Amino acid sequence: MPDVAVVGSGPNGLAAAVTMARAGLKVQVFEEAATPGGGLRTSELMQPGHLHDICSAVQPMALASPFFQDFELARRIDLITPELSFASPLDGGRAALAYRSLDRTAAGLGRDGPAYRRLMAPLVARAAGVADFTLNQLLRIPHDPVAAVLFGLRTLEQGSAAWNARFRDDLAPALLTGVAAHSVGALPSLAPAGAGLMLGTLAHAQGWPIPVGGSASIASAMVRDIEAHGGTVETGRRIDSLAELPAVRATLLDIAPPALLRLAGDSLPAGYRRSLASYRFGNAACKVDFILAGPVPWQAAELADAGTVHVGGTRAEMAEAENQVAAGKHPDRPYVLVSQPSRFDDSRAPQGRHILWTYCHVPAGSTVDMAEAVTAQLERFAPGFRDLVVQVQVTTAAGLAEYNQNYVGGDFAAGLMDLRGLVQRPVVSPVPWRTPLPGVYLCSSSTPPGPGVTGMPGFHAAKYALKDIFGLPLPRLGL
Ligand SMILES: Cc1cc2nc3c(=O)[nH]c(=O)nc-3n(C[C@H](O)[C@H](O)[C@H](O)COP(=O)(O)OP(=O)(O)OC[C@H]3O[C@@H](n4cnc5c(N)ncnc54)[C@H](O)[C@@H]3O)c2cc1C
Repeated sequence: MPDVAVVGSGPNGLAAAVTMARAGLKVQVFEEAATPGGGLRTSELMQPGHLHDICSAVQPMALASPFFQDFELARRIDLITPELSFASPLDGGRAALAYRSLDRTAAGLGRDGPAYRRLMAPLVARAAGVADFTLNQLLRIPHDPVAAVLFGLRTLEQGSAAWNARFRDDLAPALLTGVAAHSVGALPSLAPAGAGLMLGTLAHAQGWPIPVGGSASIASAMVRDIEAHGGTVETGRRIDSLAELPAVRATLLDIAPPALLRLAGDSLPAGYRRSLASYRFGNAACKVDFILAGPVPWQAAELADAGTVHVGGTRAEMAEAENQVAAGKHPDRPYVLVSQPSRFDDSRAPQGRHILWTYCHVPAGSTVDMAEAVTAQLERFAPGFRDLVVQVQVTTAAGLAEYNQNYVGGDFAAGLMDLRGLVQRPVVSPVPWRTPLPGVYLCSSSTPPGPGVTGMPGFHAAKYALKDIFGLPLPRLGL
């Protein structure tokens, strides 16, 4: 009999399983899909030899996360870190470029270079403190309070009407908005500003790595470690009630709050049930994957070297697109996130071919196919793009929700990312991973620190389960 059951094998379920197995406990993971990984799956979506990441593609948070650092991820898999972390094209063949080097980045931003440097340099100098504050747990005293204060003040500025105050041109604002808009929400507002500054800091401090072979290599490394420590991962096994699980001492659930309500039924106290029932989800993504007959013909040639491109034009245009989504509309000119992994990793597509990973934001539950709007935005900054398209596959927001029940309505953040959503995840508590049921812990990205491939929700849940139930300290996770 296992000691521990884990439901769901996303990065957080696997992080919880790794931690529990490393502590010497017998762990069994249950995953409803045919392969483990949740948001860490890579597959031949359309044609043999073309490897697409279904969800996450670019892994700066994994590189910076305390869990993956302890796990020594960078020694277990091959990561490619482009020198040009991310970029925003503008009309007329211009582009704002975020290199790992802050100096080189500032040098390319014209009159706003010094202002961009003054914004980012103090954060980059304290990148470990920024990562600890943002990727660990918000409701506690940060390890580097100065980093937290510097970060907080800059978030207030970039998340408010003052966001243009320090800039005179359009390059630096476009660069910052492109990265902020990773977090779905109205612009300017605090949660996207914070996400943007955190991701921007990581871009300059360490870069934005792409796993060789795709993001599934992260899940494979985690599954190997679980199995090497006596655990098992059972796929094709959907859990609909806690009663279906073996009689274990601890259960860790990589699921969203509505699923916890369903799995636990009446055994949860009424107050906690009410909190789960009122948990808010955000807007969603429409994923558009391409096979191309060549690299994207960017008008700004430097973009060929960018791992990630934020396609949407100026700060005002991207804000307009995001504000339309916030108002429940589908923008004609959406903000599009683009990753071009086959530019850096030959294993991702046959010679001469390329794959392109893109998505744009849409209202929750949307069934609208955004392929044409995404293609038009790419054509705008890369004339001739349309002629290179060999095949397209679209997953609408409704399709994403069907693909993974944690993405309620297609919300891949598994919960609204506004200020309240950051602290109430799913309840306001210094230990939100504990549920009122003894031995039952929530460990999905509906708990702190929230979305992204960090493993931290799973790591935190496992830390408390080890302490509460088994009286064990955190084990060593490295090789
Ligand atoms: C299109 C897209 C692009 C993204 N890009 C990035 C990116 O580039 N970088 C980044 O850091 N993040 C990215 N993300 C976000 C990232 O993928 C998620 O934040 C992360 O995967 C959440 O991890 P998790 O373990 O909480 O849940 P998930 O990864 O969602 O995994 C949950 C797993 O649990 C399983 N499950 C749920 N309920 C049950 C049940 N009852 N029984 C059995 N199994 C169950 C699901 O099938 C799933 O496999 C992206 C997400 C999407 C959708």
